[in-house]
Amino acid sequence: MREPRFDILFQPVQIGPVTARNRFFQVPHCNGMGHRDPTAHAVMRGVKAEGGWAVVCTEEVEIHHSTDVAPYVEGRIWDDADIPAHARLVDLVHEHGALAGIELVHSGLIAANLYVRQPPLGPAHLPVSGTHPVQARRMGASDLIDLRRWHRQAVERSLRAGYDLVYVYAGHGLTTIQHFLSHRYNDRRDGYGGTLANRARLLREILEDTIDQVAGRAAVACRICVDELIGSVGLERNEIEEVLGLVGELPDLWDFMVGDWDFDSVTSRFADEGAQEEYVRGLKQLTSKPVVGVGRFTSPDTMVRMIRDGVLDLIGAARPSIADPFLPKKIEEGRFDEIRECIGCNICATGDTLMTPLRCTQNPTMGEEWRRGWHPERIRPKVTEAKVLVVGAGPAGLEAAQALGKRGYEVVLAEASNALGGRVALEARLPGLASWIRVLDYRANQLDRLPNVEVALGSRLTAVEILSYDFDHVALATGSRWRADGVGRWHTRPLELNGMELLTPDNVMTGSRPRASRVVVFDDDHYYMGGVLAELLATEGHEITLVTPEPRVSEWTVNTMEQHRIQRKLLQLGVVALTSHAVLSARDGVVQTACVYTDREQELPCDSLVLVTSRLPEDALASELATELAGRPAPTIRLVGDAWSPGTIAAAVWDGHRYAEELDEPPSNGDEPPFLREVVALAALGGSAR
Ligand code: ADP
Ligand code: SF4
Repeated sequence: MREPRFDILFQPVQIGPVTARNRFFQVPHCNGMGHRDPTAHAVMRGVKAEGGWAVVCTEEVEIHHSTDVAPYVEGRIWDDADIPAHARLVDLVHEHGALAGIELVHSGLIAANLYVRQPPLGPAHLPVSGTHPVQARRMGASDLIDLRRWHRQAVERSLRAGYDLVYVYAGHGLTTIQHFLSHRYNDRRDGYGGTLANRARLLREILEDTIDQVAGRAAVACRICVDELIGSVGLERNEIEEVLGLVGELPDLWDFMVGDWDFDSVTSRFADEGAQEEYVRGLKQLTSKPVVGVGRFTSPDTMVRMIRDGVLDLIGAARPSIADPFLPKKIEEGRFDEIRECIGCNICATGDTLMTPLRCTQNPTMGEEWRRGWHPERIRPKVTEAKVLVVGAGPAGLEAAQALGKRGYEVVLAEASNALGGRVALEARLPGLASWIRVLDYRANQLDRLPNVEVALGSRLTAVEILSYDFDHVALATGSRWRADGVGRWHTRPLELNGMELLTPDNVMTGSRPRASRVVVFDDDHYYMGGVLAELLATEGHEITLVTPEPRVSEWTVNTMEQHRIQRKLLQLGVVALTSHAVLSARDGVVQTACVYTDREQELPCDSLVLVTSRLPEDALASELATELAGRPAPTIRLVGDAWSPGTIAAAVWDGHRYAEELDEPPSNGDEPPFLREVVALAALGGSAR
C-alpha cells in the first residue's frame, strides 16, 4: 500500500470548473502521430488515463490553416472535419476518469506553412525558424482580429470534441502569442509592441476571448515560457513576474516552462531531475491559480517536495509518462520499484523530429498500443507449456525474458558474463549516461519477482550445450561488436590501417586506453558514441581530434535535441572537431584524412585511432545451431536485438519485447504489415473548397 507521506500527491486539485482527481498531470507532448495517426494517438492517451494521470493532454494542435508546421505531424483542429479524431481521444481519456486537455497553437513565425503555401504570420517581417527560404509577414490590425477569431473558433470546436481543459499557449518559442510577448521578435510601435503591457496585449486578449468562449464549460490553462534563456535579448524572469501581475488571475491554471523544447526536455546527459526548479520557484506565489511544471520527475520524494515547498501544485510530466504510463498508479499502490523510470535519452523526441510514431527506450509498447495491441502493463498469458532459453542479458534479452516471464513461460536467461545489462551496463559508465542503467534496473527488478524465470550468470553457452537442454524456443540476444576496420557509412570496404594503435568503443568501454597522448576519434556513426568517447578521453588528458564526414559532431543528436550541447562541451574540453572530413588510412604516427567536398588530403599526427563506425551482429551461434539442428524444427531459434541487427538500445528493447509478444503466435507470412494502419478515407474527386 501507499505510504502516507505520498498522500499529498493524490489530493484532488480544483482547476476552475473542473477537478483533477490527483496531482499527476500529463502535460502536452508531441508524439509523431498527431493528425496522421489519430486512432493510434487516441489509444496511447487513453492508456495514460488508465495509468492514473488526472489530466491527459494532446500535443500542440494547430488552430487554423494559417499555421502549418508540416512536415512535423502535430494535431489539427482547422475545421469541423478534425473534431471526430479529437472526440475519440477525449472519449478514451474520459473512459478512465481523467480530464482531457488540448493545447491550441498558432505557430506564427515558427511554421513555414509548407503544406498550405501561404505566408506565415508574426509580429514582424522575420524569416521562419530553421533554414527554409520563407519569411513570416508582419501582422496588421485585421490579421490580429482574424487570429483572435480563429482561436475562439478552435476553442469552440475543442469544447464540441469534449475537452475539459483548453490551453492558451505561449511557450517553447513556438507560438505567435510568445513571439508578441518577447522583444526578441516584437519590434512593433503599435499597441502590441514596445512596453511589456503592449507586448502582453495579445496574450491578455486571447486569454479573455478563451475564458469568454468556454463560459465555464472547461478550464483555461496558460502555458508560458518563464525565461527564454538568451539573456536580456529575450524574455526573462522579471518580465514574466510583471506579466503575472497583469494577467496572473485570468486563466484557471498556469503551466510554467523554461527555454525552448531542448531545455524543457533536456537530456539526462546534460541535466538532472528537476533542472527547471530554479527558474520556476517563486512564481506560484504570484498567482492564486494552481501551477503545473515539469522536471523529468520520476522520484515520488521529489514530487512531494515540489508540492510541499510550494514550487508546483501539479506534477507535470511528458517523458516520465511515456516511459511509464502507469507511474501514478504505481505510486498510489506503493509499487515504487516497479516504476519504469525515464532515462532521459530523448529517443521519444525523435518521434517528433523524424515525424514517426514516438518510441521509448524504456517502454517498448509506446506507439504500439493500438497498431499492435501492446500494453505497458498487460501481456497475453502463455498459450503453451513451452520452455524458452534466452541467451544474453543485454537490453534485448532482459526485456524478452521479463516479458516472457510475465506471460507465464518457464524461462532461463543465460548470460556469459557475471553481470546483467550487456551494453547498457557498459554505456551507463560513460560520461553523462549514468541514468541509462535504469534500463537494467527496471528489468532486473521485474525478473526478481518472476519465479518462473531463472537467471544463469557466468554461462557462455555453445550450440552443443544449448541443444543438450530441452528448450522449445531459443532467443539469441547475444549483441554486437564494434568494427575495427573503419567500415561504416563513408567507407563500405576495410581501410588500410597499419602500424597504428586501434581502439573500438568496446575496447574503451571495457577499460583499454590509448597508450599515448594524440588520439583521433573517427565518428562515422553520428549518434552519441563518438562524441561521448571524445569527451571521456579528453577529460582523461588525451589530445583529441574528432573527425567526422558530417558538418557537425554527433550529427544525429539534433534529433534528441542535444547536438548543440555536445558540440559546446567538446569544444570547451579542447577537442578539435575536424568536420566534413573522413579518415582515409592510418600508418605509424599518422592518420590521413580528406575533405568530403574537395578530397583535399591532410595528415594528422596521431598515436591512437578510435574507430566509431559501425557494428557487426554477434550471430555466430545462430549458424552453429542451424548446422547442429540440420533441419530439425525444434527448438525454434531467433536472433533478437543487436544480434539480429545492431541499432539503438530502444530498438533492442523493442525487439526483445516483440519476441515475447509474438511467441507461439501464428507466424506472419511477412507479406502484409503485422500491425494496423489508418488509411485515409478518399474524398470525392473534383470540386473545390470554395
Ligand atoms: P542487446 O543490445 O541486443 O541486448 P547486448 O550487446 O547489450 O545486446 O547484450 C548481449 C549480451 O549477450 C552480453 O551481455 C553478452 O555477454 C551476452 N552473450 C553473448 N554471447 C553469449 C553466449 N554465447 N552465451 C551467453 N551470453 C552471451
Ligand atoms: Fe525517457 Fe528515453 Fe523514454 Fe523518452 S525515450 S521517455 S527520454 S526513456
